[in-house]
Amino acid sequence: MMDIKSLLSERTQFMKASDIRELLKWVTEDVISLGGGMPDPSTFPRELADIARDVIITKGSSALQYGKTEGVDDLKDELIRFMAKDGIKASREEIIITTGSQEALDLIGRITINAGDAVITERPTYLAALQAFKAYRPRIIGVDMDSDGMIMTKLEDAIRKSINDGNKIKFIYVIPTCQNPTGISMSIDRRKHLMELASKYDLLIVEDNPYSYFLFDGIYVPPLKSMDTENRVVYMSTFSKIIAPGIRVGWVVGDKDLIRWIAMAKQAVDLHTSTLSQYIALEALRRGIIERNIPKIREAYKVKRDAMLDALAKYMPEQVTWTRPIGGMFVWASAQGIRTEDMLPMAVSKYKVAYVPGKSFYPDEDVHTSMRLNFTYPSVDMIYEGIRRLSNAIKEELSKNQH
Ligand SMILES: *Cc1c(COP(=O)(O)O)cnc(C)c1O
Repeated sequence: MMDIKSLLSERTQFMKASDIRELLKWVTEDVISLGGGMPDPSTFPRELADIARDVIITKGSSALQYGKTEGVDDLKDELIRFMAKDGIKASREEIIITTGSQEALDLIGRITINAGDAVITERPTYLAALQAFKAYRPRIIGVDMDSDGMIMTKLEDAIRKSINDGNKIKFIYVIPTCQNPTGISMSIDRRKHLMELASKYDLLIVEDNPYSYFLFDGIYVPPLKSMDTENRVVYMSTFSKIIAPGIRVGWVVGDKDLIRWIAMAKQAVDLHTSTLSQYIALEALRRGIIERNIPKIREAYKVKRDAMLDALAKYMPEQVTWTRPIGGMFVWASAQGIRTEDMLPMAVSKYKVAYVPGKSFYPDEDVHTSMRLNFTYPSVDMIYEGIRRLSNAIKEELSKNQH
């Protein structure tokens, strides 16, 4: 047998299997999983069947052909209209279509990060972004959050420290609206402050925005990109949560030079995003399916968010605290005195409930008291039952640790 390990690059040797994936292998059918990050499949529009058929039959010569690395121009034009409602202005040259936001995260890391460069993120932050960036070996500096998002005094301290240490800061990565994993949204004041700091220290901001379509409480928060007068925000969004993740189409808006470099990197990775998927997304926008679907998804998820918050209030012991997201897909729960990664095997095997331990979302992996709970995939009944089971697991763990 070949020694594959001896063939691996340094970059690859540093990769490790996602904890979540390893842990969720144990989840069997009788386990209620609050651990996934998946949309409710009943929200996937059935009209996609007609669209796919129409696109293949009437536009097949382009939709099944190789395409431009930057993406299908007609789709960009639809996206320009779609984003204008959020106050985001862009031209075709400032947009690139990617294979989901995940590819965009990798490409941005690929074109900017040298080993040892600084990348600043919220703490905790999106696990898959950490994975994408870490392949390029940056120093990831996590900045703590409160209920209004990233704390700006701490951000400025982190910026100053990086500069003093001689580490070039390549970008600040943020999910300002309904953050994954915490569900926290950055206040408007903080957004302004973040833009001011980026300007003062001449920094690039990477804004990941998959969730602003699902704000449940009528509280509007403008994307950073809409406040960006200096073209220092690279904005990314995706069809994953508003059509279906399986089509793998996302997009990036930013300075046109930056977009050109991203395109150069993308060409080597996958030539272009699936043209068939791009044409399906294009038609879904043109036919108004996405705009009709969004309010339905929002309504369904609001009911589930409310169910989860209600269940938490009903079942959890007093040591447990949790966030109250205004939208998105996740609640973040914490309890002093438990280590959620140690508790998980017991929660799964004995109480038949799963969640994602918070540790995985910390760049330094040194916080152990939190967990991410998803409310979009399970049904309302499963949410109540899942939280009830979880509360029993937490009570057992707390009493064990008191002795
Ligand atoms: C779901 C999600 C995405 C979407 O990634 P895709 O690759 O487009 O499916 C991006 N960022 C965050 C923070 C997410 O939660």
